Amino acid sequence: MQPVVSYQCPACGTMTPADRPLWRCGCGSPLNLTPGRGLGRGDIDRAAATLWRYRAALALGHPPRVSLGEGWTPLVARRWAGAPVLFKLESQMPTGSFKDRGTAVMLNHLIEVGVGPIHEDSSGNAGASIATYAAAAGLACRIYVPTTAPRGKIVQIAASGAELRAIPGSRQAVTDAALAAAATSFYASHNWQPFFIEGTKTLAYEVWEQFGFAVPDNILVPTGYGSNILGLERGFDELERNGEIARRPRLFAVQAANCAAFAAAWAAGASDYVPFVPGTTAADGIATVKPVRTAEVLAAVRRSQGAVVAVPEAAIGPALRALGHLGLFVEPTAATAAAACSLLLDAGTIRPDETTVVVLTGHGLKATDTIAALLGG
Ligand SMILES: [Zn+2]
Repeated sequence: MQPVVSYQCPACGTMTPADRPLWRCGCGSPLNLTPGRGLGRGDIDRAAATLWRYRAALALGHPPRVSLGEGWTPLVARRWAGAPVLFKLESQMPTGSFKDRGTAVMLNHLIEVGVGPIHEDSSGNAGASIATYAAAAGLACRIYVPTTAPRGKIVQIAASGAELRAIPGSRQAVTDAALAAAATSFYASHNWQPFFIEGTKTLAYEVWEQFGFAVPDNILVPTGYGSNILGLERGFDELERNGEIARRPRLFAVQAANCAAFAAAWAAGASDYVPFVPGTTAADGIATVKPVRTAEVLAAVRRSQGAVVAVPEAAIGPALRALGHLGLFVEPTAATAAAACSLLLDAGTIRPDETTVVVLTGHGLKATDTIAALLGG
């Protein structure tokens, strides 16, 4: 089969056809995909109420072998902090988080090129997503999680039949365990394997179509490793190159101030990782100490003329409660984006007369213990 795209190494420049399971370059760097062909509005498969309506833009050779109906999530209008805001309910994915976009496309690619057993490390949502899709595809799967991951996410992984390895210590210790296993099974890492971003780019396509083939002024996204920021950039890039949009939304990468690698670099005016002191946060899904693609995410935010926003820990609970009172039950990680929306409106960085999308990345049922504590009972 002729691969649709190639891998390109940003560090050493090596190009490799995407015709084999690969998660990083031989030089050790993460790989990127060469630019995609994108699509025009006439290429959308409107019969598919899933992300596969944009299949013409995806770098896959075949129709999907595994799908659970991911994508085409609701975009609902509410008032937030006195302004009209649209909430993108990525929480309503098959496994309850936005990760299913990336997982579905990445696993279908890996199946196309003949992957064997896979493993992954995750704070919870990506692990649950990959374990679930691996089960649906009949792939053997092992997931490494921190012992501190929310119980709901660990139970979800176990229910899929994946082998579960709970690793004590830091989040980095979990990643190190997964890296060490890369010699024996394929490391299907949502943070390394770039087909994951090929999947998250469909978020850009959906927002564009749901806006009537236009784009909002601002998009706010909870950001841990940045796969949604990079996916949005890739998607809007393709739409721009195809003449479908004339301008790009500002992207706001939202972090929890207690563990904010991108915010530390942003505050320092740096273009790559700067050391910082990580603390604990209720927003477990974005508590990333060492993002894999720091420079690319920072560059994407800068190109969009957006910003990195650090949300104080004390703002997460009230935002989660206020969302709940609007009928939007989400996990604390997702509530940070709404809290950031308040901060940006207060600061005048975004205005009520602009169009703003807040991406709610994960369902509240993922983290009921943490939510109970935040709500005070
Ligand atoms: Zn390389």
